[in-house]
Amino acid sequence: TDEMLRKSEKLSVVGQLAAGVAHEIRNPLTSLKGFLQLLNSKNLGHNKYFDIMQAEIERINFIVNEFMIVSNPQVVRSQEEKNLESILENIVLLLGAQANLINVQIATEFESDIPLIKCDENQLKQVFINILKNALEAMDSGGVILIQVKNIQPNKILIRFIDQGIGIPEEQIPKLGEPFHSTKEYGTGLGLMVTNKIIEGHRGSMSIKSKVNQGTTVDIILPIE
Ligand code: ADP
Ligand code: MG
Repeated sequence: TDEMLRKSEKLSVVGQLAAGVAHEIRNPLTSLKGFLQLLNSKNLGHNKYFDIMQAEIERINFIVNEFMIVSNPQVVRSQEEKNLESILENIVLLLGAQANLINVQIATEFESDIPLIKCDENQLKQVFINILKNALEAMDSGGVILIQVKNIQPNKILIRFIDQGIGIPEEQIPKLGEPFHSTKEYGTGLGLMVTNKIIEGHRGSMSIKSKVNQGTTVDIILPIE
């Protein structure tokens, strides 16, 4: 519809702006980071303010990186045949410690005979991290996050993430993936937008189902060549 077109046009302008701004911010950020490190190593600056400054710089860095992906996400940079299972196991390992801290187990169920998939591995990692982080952030009282990978007809792979978190109220479901829509105190509201764009770039699709106080299921479907 017209409304959707207008929205996507706006987004592409925002994207171009974001790319420019993000690029400009990166250089001074790198030098700030370096000098802060130097102050610390010379014991000139190490007090409680140092940690705050470093954390804030990391946060700027994180937001800038998300913006960079938002700005040019349709471009799948590399296209190599990769094993989904090993990519996912990697991510689970990466987030496992963080999950443990809040009593969350991340379990995986891989169907046998999942073929290799042509993808940009780093982009898919970003997708899996974004989804799993949301799941972890929704589960403050522990539980299990289940990741299932299945062959579905015809020539498609389903990657399903099931969490037992707080869930999403029905009226908020249409807002998911809109830039800056976040219900978190420190959220950017960019994670699902980036995720969506990357999946689109891989000619796949994403859908989210949720029940408040029961949990959320995120489905990613990717085509096999
Ligand atoms: P952020 O995590 O920075 O808030 P996202 O784009 O990743 O931004 O997510 C947008 C919003 O969608 C979140 O603020 C949250 O309200 C909701 N959301 C996403 N995933 C989940 C989930 N697994 N459980 C509950 N809410 C979720
Ligand atoms: Mg998020």
